[in-house]
Amino acid sequence: MNNFIELALAGVQQLVPYVPGKPVDELQRELGLTEIVKLASNENPLGTGRKVAAAIQAALPELTRYPDGSGFALKTALSAHLDVTPAQITLGNGSSEILELMMRTFVAPEHEVVFSQHAFALYPILTQAVGAKAKVVPAKQYGHDLTAMRAAINANTRLVFIANPNNPTGTLLATSELEDFIASLPAQVLCVLDEAYFDFVAPDLRSDTMHWPLRYPNLIIARTFSKAHGLAGLRIGYGVSSIELADLLNRVRQPFNSNSLALAAAEAALGDTEYLQQTVATNNAGMLQLTQAFSHLGLQWIPSSGNFVSVDVQQNGMAIYNALLQKGVIVRPVANYEMPNHIRVSIGTSQENKVFIDALAQVLKGV
Ligand SMILES: *Cc1c(COP(=O)(O)O)cnc(C)c1O
Repeated sequence: MNNFIELALAGVQQLVPYVPGKPVDELQRELGLTEIVKLASNENPLGTGRKVAAAIQAALPELTRYPDGSGFALKTALSAHLDVTPAQITLGNGSSEILELMMRTFVAPEHEVVFSQHAFALYPILTQAVGAKAKVVPAKQYGHDLTAMRAAINANTRLVFIANPNNPTGTLLATSELEDFIASLPAQVLCVLDEAYFDFVAPDLRSDTMHWPLRYPNLIIARTFSKAHGLAGLRIGYGVSSIELADLLNRVRQPFNSNSLALAAAEAALGDTEYLQQTVATNNAGMLQLTQAFSHLGLQWIPSSGNFVSVDVQQNGMAIYNALLQKGVIVRPVANYEMPNHIRVSIGTSQENKVFIDALAQVLKGV
């Protein structure tokens, strides 16, 4: 065989892998630093909650058993929490898997997938992996331009991704605009409404979307336990859709796609309202702390409804990212999102935020 790589599907051959935030251990190894602040992956800065830790402890003796492939207990808890029926819920190995299941279930190489410029990096990767065509619609003030996205939909379009709030820009769509868009979709176009950061949105700005899937059978809402619930390391998320759509995803998914520790932890996390409240309060305070510091430094930022904020550093963001690394602070460069002069920083504890702000001030002064 001449070229082994040619065996891979055409889309896969062209694929550029997702670049995750730099792990703390890696920077420790490279620089020999011990004090490292990681504000690069929109993780929860509060650490593992007590209730979650107890649930994991209780589940440990049963690790020799396969998990409950139907996720009965977690779906029951989610169903009560969200006021949807359990049959509308699909569990996933992170909400990333829900997005992937949508692609594998509905999108073939002859289809087009529509999403916004500056939208979450997984959308182009998943599209490329199935060999479909990505239609990237120019953003409007860093947010989704729904009018332009609607205009980009044609007879070949099979799926639309909307991130609300969007990562890495933090932009939020108004409820009526969003629902009008979904209502306007042709019957053959599926819509993934990615609400990974739902819990961080101010209550008066939130769209109460959970009752939409019964009205729009082509819609799925994706949510995750990775961010506000602090379970990024366990990989658990879910989709809420019509029962018909959930039934299709259920045929495609691996029978044990959500592991037993994740199922137990997610159920405990859902019941830990105190942890969630503390998370949101920490985030609100931290957002203020960071944006006030940006003001003092004369920097513009994109107003964010998430647990992160992208700031315009008025020069090459990758250079600032690298200089911050040297000081033991990991943020996210976003040049791959066509935002070369921004960096994205996750909201940390007040102490972590302070370390970042001090380091950024020094870096900008060239110290
Ligand atoms: C973090 C994130 C997700 C989901 O992550 P999982 O850990 O796979 O649940 C989905 N969408 C966006 C926009 C995100 O930022």
